[in-house]
Amino acid sequence: NPKKARLEPATSNIAVRRGEPLVVIDNVNKHFGELHVLKNINTTVARGEVVVVIGPSGSGKSTLCRAINRLETIDSGSITIDGEHLPEEGAELARLRADVGMVFQSFNLFSHKTVLENVTLAPIKVKKLPKAQAKQKAMELLERVGVANQAGKMPAQLSGGQQQRVAIARSLAMSPKLILMDEPTSALDPEMINEVLDVMIGLAKDGMTMIVVTHEMGFARKAADRVLFMADGEIVEEATPENFFSNPQSHRAQDFLSKIL
Ligand code: ADP
Ligand code: MG
Repeated sequence: NPKKARLEPATSNIAVRRGEPLVVIDNVNKHFGELHVLKNINTTVARGEVVVVIGPSGSGKSTLCRAINRLETIDSGSITIDGEHLPEEGAELARLRADVGMVFQSFNLFSHKTVLENVTLAPIKVKKLPKAQAKQKAMELLERVGVANQAGKMPAQLSGGQQQRVAIARSLAMSPKLILMDEPTSALDPEMINEVLDVMIGLAKDGMTMIVVTHEMGFARKAADRVLFMADGEIVEEATPENFFSNPQSHRAQDFLSKIL
């Protein structure tokens, strides 16, 4: 895999121990009332690894992402990030959560803040970065995702693709160990999907650890080390993108792929 040979990216501090487990998900179960939405989920994501999660609607992909970041509680099992359990609440949770960037389908930018302020806010408030330093880093990140010329605008003045790229820059501003993306291109007009995927592919090549829920097979083929296929709350298959797309093992994966490919 050629991307493993690349050097340390400017925006991450993670490559030093690349290959070691970063996210360990051990026998996780989650119910919503009667509904068993995560069933004995076990998987490990290594530093620098890019994992694409795919599966039918309602299979538990978003719940898994949210559980990793403690936006959702779990009933049993454990999830650790860099060896640390995320506590249920409190200052310690805020500290550990800052290690995990999250990009959602709806861009979730602060609508009353400028693009630049969206990116500097958390580093100033949570990481106590001096304003000038936060601004300099934010401008570098906005440059990297190709929207530096929009820094002074309000989010509503940007296209959906530009807003999502700002959301990615905002998550990078916290120097996360891991970025979770839940269908980051699903809300975009078709002509804007590639500009966001290109940024994601760039991050993957630079060695960012990523868990990405997406049905964009082009992204999976180009960037993923591994595909996790979920159905009915279970991880049904785990394989390289090549193997998964050309030779899915389970009926559920075959059926799913026949509908989306
Ligand atoms: P996916 O992201 O794969 O589409 P989700 O994780 O969003 O799936 O949802 C998995 C299942 O859990 C679905 O049946 C969904 O309706 C249900 N679910 C999700 N969130 C909640 C909630 N807050 N309360 C009750 N049921 C929920
Ligand atoms: Mg979802």
